[in-house]
Amino acid sequence: MMEDYPRNLAEFERFFATDEVCRDYLMHLRWPIGFRCPRCGGGKFWPQRVILLHCAACDYQSSVIAGTIFQDTHAPLTLWFRAMWYITSQKNGTSALGLQRILGLGSYRTAWAWLHKLRRAMIRPGRDRLRGRVEVDETFVGGEEDGVRGRRRGDKSLIVVAVEVEGRRVGRIRLRSIPDASAASLHSFIGDSIEPGSTVHTDGWQGYKGLEQKGYTCETSVIGKQPKDAVKLLPHVHLVVALLKRWLLGTHQGAVSRAYLAYYLDEFTFRFNRRKSKSRGKLFYRLVEQAVTTPPVPFDQLVPVEKSASPAKPQGIGDT
Ligand SMILES: [Zn+2]
Repeated sequence: MMEDYPRNLAEFERFFATDEVCRDYLMHLRWPIGFRCPRCGGGKFWPQRVILLHCAACDYQSSVIAGTIFQDTHAPLTLWFRAMWYITSQKNGTSALGLQRILGLGSYRTAWAWLHKLRRAMIRPGRDRLRGRVEVDETFVGGEEDGVRGRRRGDKSLIVVAVEVEGRRVGRIRLRSIPDASAASLHSFIGDSIEPGSTVHTDGWQGYKGLEQKGYTCETSVIGKQPKDAVKLLPHVHLVVALLKRWLLGTHQGAVSRAYLAYYLDEFTFRFNRRKSKSRGKLFYRLVEQAVTTPPVPFDQLVPVEKSASPAKPQGIGDT
């Protein structure tokens, strides 16, 4: 199957009217050269109760959704497909409350869990690293917006941002939540996110020292105490940070707890790096494709052991 996806809502509704069609779509993406029985390797099977596949040769029963983020779901596949379509067709995504409303889900908890499961599928492991000219800087997100300059943590979360610069334009991005702005944290992020041989442009913070020995060309702009200097000297990274903060405050009303920040960064990256896609359907396709290759996350693992992070109704805490 070539990359085949609906281009608009009308096509989406025509494509994915039944659970059987959704199942077949998942199968095509999960087994591009065809399903094989995991026990005997046979290619002949018949579907049962939509998601089960019964091997004609050895009677082994496997499932289309086992081992994917959809594992153990009791909801119809059509509903999951509508969730994925809605999430990707909205330019800025949606909150759990928004998803609950649009799908008519009975529980906020379900909408919350679905969004978090889908976020896990938004980052493809082993994706290419950034290359060429890359601006890197750290910033605080969450907590109060006060424009504090420095590397103190307070109640905010520190993130590091890398942005490819293509002429005057912004290319791809990578984001990571980091415990501190030490060389260990920053070098590890840069090693994972940027191809050696690239030019890394920073403000010269000591945590960036020593990158030359790891194969990077370093460019430093020393920044004064005024935040606007940073905007001038690392303009692309600061544009991305401004968009990220607007997204967290807008779509999610700023109610993103530290425990989940990394997954929101993944969603933002997923959207940002595909912002020039001609069709929103392509984002949908990517999300479904990655959802069938992303291992399942049981609900209790979606919820870290942290009191403020439980999926409560959005009354000022947790994730909305
Ligand atoms: Zn078999």
